[in-house]
Amino acid sequence: MFFKLVQKNFDYIIIGAGAAGLMLTDAIGSDPYFKDKSVLLIDKDAKKSNDRTWCFWEKGEGDFDTIIHKSWSHIEFAGEKYQGSYEIAPYTYKMLRGIDFYNYYFDRIGGYKNVLFSQALVSGIKDHTEHAVVTTDVGSFKATQVFTSVFNYKSLYNQTKYPVLQQHFIGWFIKSEKPVFNPEKATFMDFSIPQKGNTRFMYVLPFSETEGLVEYTLFSTDTLAEEDYENAIKDYIREKLQCPNYEIIEKEKGNIPMTCYNFSVNNSGNILNIGIAGGWAKPSTGYTFMSTKRKISELVIFLKKNKSLSSFNAKTRYWYYDLLLLDILDKDNNKGRRIFESLFEGSSPQLIFKFLDEETNLSEDLQIISSCPKTYFIKALLNRIF
Ligand SMILES: Cc1cc2nc3c(=O)[nH]c(=O)nc-3n(C[C@H](O)[C@H](O)[C@H](O)COP(=O)(O)OP(=O)(O)OC[C@H]3O[C@@H](n4cnc5c(N)ncnc54)[C@H](O)[C@@H]3O)c2cc1C
Repeated sequence: MFFKLVQKNFDYIIIGAGAAGLMLTDAIGSDPYFKDKSVLLIDKDAKKSNDRTWCFWEKGEGDFDTIIHKSWSHIEFAGEKYQGSYEIAPYTYKMLRGIDFYNYYFDRIGGYKNVLFSQALVSGIKDHTEHAVVTTDVGSFKATQVFTSVFNYKSLYNQTKYPVLQQHFIGWFIKSEKPVFNPEKATFMDFSIPQKGNTRFMYVLPFSETEGLVEYTLFSTDTLAEEDYENAIKDYIREKLQCPNYEIIEKEKGNIPMTCYNFSVNNSGNILNIGIAGGWAKPSTGYTFMSTKRKISELVIFLKKNKSLSSFNAKTRYWYYDLLLLDILDKDNNKGRRIFESLFEGSSPQLIFKFLDEETNLSEDLQIISSCPKTYFIKALLNRIF
C-alpha cells in the first residue's frame, strides 16, 4: 500500500485517516458496489501512535467488539448534591484505543485493490466544478469527489450567530500503588469538584483496581493553561481517589468543538467535509465516534443513489435542543452542573443515551426536557425567538 504515487486521477479522495476517513475508506473499499471506483486516502501522519481513546455506548454486540479494550455495564454520575450509580443494560459503555482502531483499519484497507494510501500534507483543496484538485507536499491529485476531515476552528469564529464552546480536557492514565478504582464502574461525569464559574467535571475510566484514566473536562469557551488541568487531576487523585502514590503511564488531551454552526457552508459540489470538520460532533456533548459511524452509513447510501450531497447534513429537532443548551452555557457557563444534575436525577441513563443518540420519540423528549431546569430553557428559547 505504501508506494510512490504515479496515479494522479481518482474517483474519490479521502483526506484524513482518522475516525471518519478510515470508516469511510473501509465502507467504500469493502462494498462491491464501489469496486470500479479508485480511492486515494491521504494523511500527513502515519497513524502509529495511541493519540486518543474513544468511548461510546451501544446496545449489545457491535462492529468494534473485536478491538474493544474495556467495557462497563455500570456507570456513575455525581452532581453537587445528587449522586447516582446505574446498571445501563441493554447498553454497554465501550472503550477503544486509538492505536487499535488505526491498526485494524489500515490492515483491512491494505486488502482493497482500488484503495491507495499516501502519507502527505494537504495544503489546499479547490473545486473546479467538474472535479476537485487536492494539493499536497508530494504532488497534486484530481478527483470527482473529495471528502475531507481537515478541521479548522477559524471558520467557527468567523460568525457570531451560534455560540462556540469547546469540550477540552487532559487525561492521565495512572497506575496506583494500592487499589483505588472499581473496575466495574465508569464515572461518566463527576461534578463534585470546584466549578470556578464553568461547567467542569471529572471523567474516570477504571481498567483494573490499580489502573485507570482520570480526565479533567470542561464545556466552556476558553481553554486553560496546562497546569490548571493537571493540578485539578492531582487534587482529584489525592482527595477523591485517596491515592497518594501513583505513576503516570500516558497522557491524552483533546479539544472538541461544541457548536450548532452550519458546517455545510464549507462544502461545495465536489467537496464534502466529514467527521468533526463536517459537524458530526454532537454539539451538546462532543461525542462524535458513533455519530460518525451512523453518518458514514448514510453517506454510502447517498453515494449509491447518486443523491446530491448538498442535502446531506439535514437539521433535526435535536439540533434545536443542542442550540438551547449551548446558548445557556455560553451565557452563564456555571449552569452546566445544575442542568446535568437535574437530568440524571430525573431520567434514567438509558433514556439519556437514547436521547443523545437522537432516537427518542416526542413524549420521551418531553420527559427529558421536563427533568431539566425549565426556566433556563424557556429563557434561552425566548432569546432565540426574539
Ligand atoms: C483525545 C480525544 C479523545 C476523544 N474521545 C472521544 C470519545 O471518547 N468519544 C467520542 O465520541 N469522541 C471522542 N473524541 C472526539 C472525536 O471522536 C475524535 O476527535 C475523532 O477522532 C474525530 O474524527 P475525525 O475523523 O473528524 O478527525 P481525526 O480523527 O482527528 O482525523 C483527522 C485526520 O486528518 C489528518 N490531517 C489533518 N490535517 C491534515 C492535512 N493538512 N493533511 C493531511 N492530513 C491531515 C490528521 O492527521 C488526522 O489523522 C475524542 C477526541 C480526542 C482528541
